[in-house]
Amino acid sequence: MRSTILLKVTGEIFTDAATSMPTSVLARSLARQIKKLADTHHFGIVIGGGNFFRGSRHGTALGLNASVGHQIGMLATMMNGLTLKDLFEQEGLPCTLFCAVPSAQVGTAISHQTITEARAAGHYMIFTGGTGNPFFTTDTTAVLRGLQIQADEIWKGTLVDGIFSADPKKDPYAAYIPHISYEKALFDNLGILDATAITLAREHALPIRVFNIFKENALLNAALAADFGSRICPLTNNDNVSQKGYYHGRAI
Ligand code: UDP
Repeated sequence: MRSTILLKVTGEIFTDAATSMPTSVLARSLARQIKKLADTHHFGIVIGGGNFFRGSRHGTALGLNASVGHQIGMLATMMNGLTLKDLFEQEGLPCTLFCAVPSAQVGTAISHQTITEARAAGHYMIFTGGTGNPFFTTDTTAVLRGLQIQADEIWKGTLVDGIFSADPKKDPYAAYIPHISYEKALFDNLGILDATAITLAREHALPIRVFNIFKENALLNAALAADFGSRICPLTNNDNVSQKGYYHGRAI
């Protein structure tokens, strides 16, 4: 049976880090990797909008009402979704573009029925518009859509190799954390995913993998090895007690 994965990717995949110019290199590579995994993995994808606009950063800088800033951020994810769909289809991957912000000209409304139709048609599912609500994130969207498509795992493709005790770009002593419980990730406030996303995943025991999407063949490696990247998941009996820590003053 094929695994169902909800892949979350930042809009930064469309920006070349060296030149800051738009690029489709990584998106095309992701399409080719997804195609190679077609027999074993089916994907839904949540795309961010950070290459265009982030409500908290750009909206604040412009002095916008916070809700308006977030609305613009959600529209940014829709532009990226259109881009991703076009690039994926050029690579031979049929896709349905879903929009949480109603926009019939751009994409399909999100419901159990439309998701089922897309799957029955063998389409990959690209989710845009975030949750459709301000003050949420595309990470929370990823968990929400992951639950809707009954994903086995959330894969968060990011700029770093996984979860660290501190920001590895700023702290040379930041330690890599291969796996961590939802509770400890929340308690330690590690900043890799927001608390709303982790809480929702925890409620439904939906595992989250975090890895560097900018590394060559990241999706193929994630599919091959369960220890590629860091994992946020329920504790097992083999977990060291020090992994567990305390949450709200209670040993876990
Ligand atoms: N956003 C929102 N509600 C959501 C998801 C996203 O308001 O449910 C807005 C928010 O302002 C965010 C922006 O959309 O900054 C773009 O998403 P994000 O910053 O997550 O993009 P990424 O960093 O993943 O490219």
